[in-house]
Amino acid sequence: MSLLIKNGIIIDPCAENRAVKDILVENGKIAGVSEHLTAPEAEVLDATDKLVTPGLVDMHVHLREPGFEAKETVQTGTLAALKGGFTSVACMPNTYPVADNASVIRYILGRAQEAGNAKVYPVGAITKNSEGSELAPMAELKEAGAVAFSDDGKPVNDAAVMRRAMEYAKMLDAVIISHCEESTLAGGVMHEGTISTMLGLKGIPAAAEEVMVARDVILARLTGCRLHIAHVSTAGSVQIIREAKSRGIKVTAETTPHHFTLTHDYVHGYDTATKVNPPLRAPEDVEAILAGLADGTIDVIATDHAPHTEEEKNVEYDLAPFGLVGLETAVGLVWSQLVLPGFLTAEQAVAKLSLNPARILGVPAGSLEVGAPADITIIEPRQEWEVNPESFASKGKNTPFAGRKLTGKPVMTLVNGTRF
Ligand SMILES: [Zn+2]
Repeated sequence: MSLLIKNGIIIDPCAENRAVKDILVENGKIAGVSEHLTAPEAEVLDATDKLVTPGLVDMHVHLREPGFEAKETVQTGTLAALKGGFTSVACMPNTYPVADNASVIRYILGRAQEAGNAKVYPVGAITKNSEGSELAPMAELKEAGAVAFSDDGKPVNDAAVMRRAMEYAKMLDAVIISHCEESTLAGGVMHEGTISTMLGLKGIPAAAEEVMVARDVILARLTGCRLHIAHVSTAGSVQIIREAKSRGIKVTAETTPHHFTLTHDYVHGYDTATKVNPPLRAPEDVEAILAGLADGTIDVIATDHAPHTEEEKNVEYDLAPFGLVGLETAVGLVWSQLVLPGFLTAEQAVAKLSLNPARILGVPAGSLEVGAPADITIIEPRQEWEVNPESFASKGKNTPFAGRKLTGKPVMTLVNGTRF
């Protein structure tokens, strides 16, 4: 079985320049990348005027299985990933039971194998039941297939516990992904500012995130552990991370499409799809995130795909769970908000959506080199489309982008050479 992808615009963050080339896929691997390839036996796929990129990697999704199958399953979540252009996803451990033991990690990997969609890389819990007190058996989790450690959804409040987790992670050469939230400052439902006051909703100050980003950067310096800051949402966090990088601390960071697109203004109207943690912030925070993306302070764009059922979200703002679905709108938002306005080149955007997360997690993705697995995403950069949650493959329809017109759409994904 071979496939020849003809005349695509190759966007490879590893390549020196952009060029129109052909890609030959054989036996699930990339067998050739060059101009005017011929392969008489191969099926030909015309990619003229389309962007051909390494398969995209979303390092922050919630697949909800085991335990919350009404929200999402590994099957539906990985199908949503493929529809959104992602050939690999890393899934967070806040399932039921929590992925704090090898059997849950193996269960998720088994479900992913059965589904046969996007590749799944489980993230193991830092602490038992993600309660923040006793460390999970991290070596055992890694052995079972966990690619990183996080108590995402909950912060590790105890600095001594986080220090020990980082010491273990360093020994295992694994990255700690930190959901940065100082609990004693949090407890609200939206960004603390003029709009929370106006709407009478309890706020979460930017400081709740920044205090924890600062603490974890300091602990990363102390331990030498690789630290990745999840879903950066504030100007102060961007500043702390920029400064930490300049001092050689091993810290990387991600932000989400909703945090570089929306401000707390969107909470007007009390649409619970705008209730996310960390919350949508002020315009100056969005500006700082755009600057952080452009100068490389923020390495990764990840969705924090967090599906919920309609019943769960269709309640008062105060009572709704945090989270929105992001897999199927990410590429459209990256192109509409970042690439077309010129904040990022297509290569920079693709690096943040594939190569960088793959390197941070240490997974085989992010490259179009000969011999690499044929995980490929084809994007139609000028296609205009309207977000319709009813068409999502995800069970979650909780998006604040319903009805929004976007430009740029993934039109095909290949995983190990299989087309979706
Ligand atoms: Zn989180």
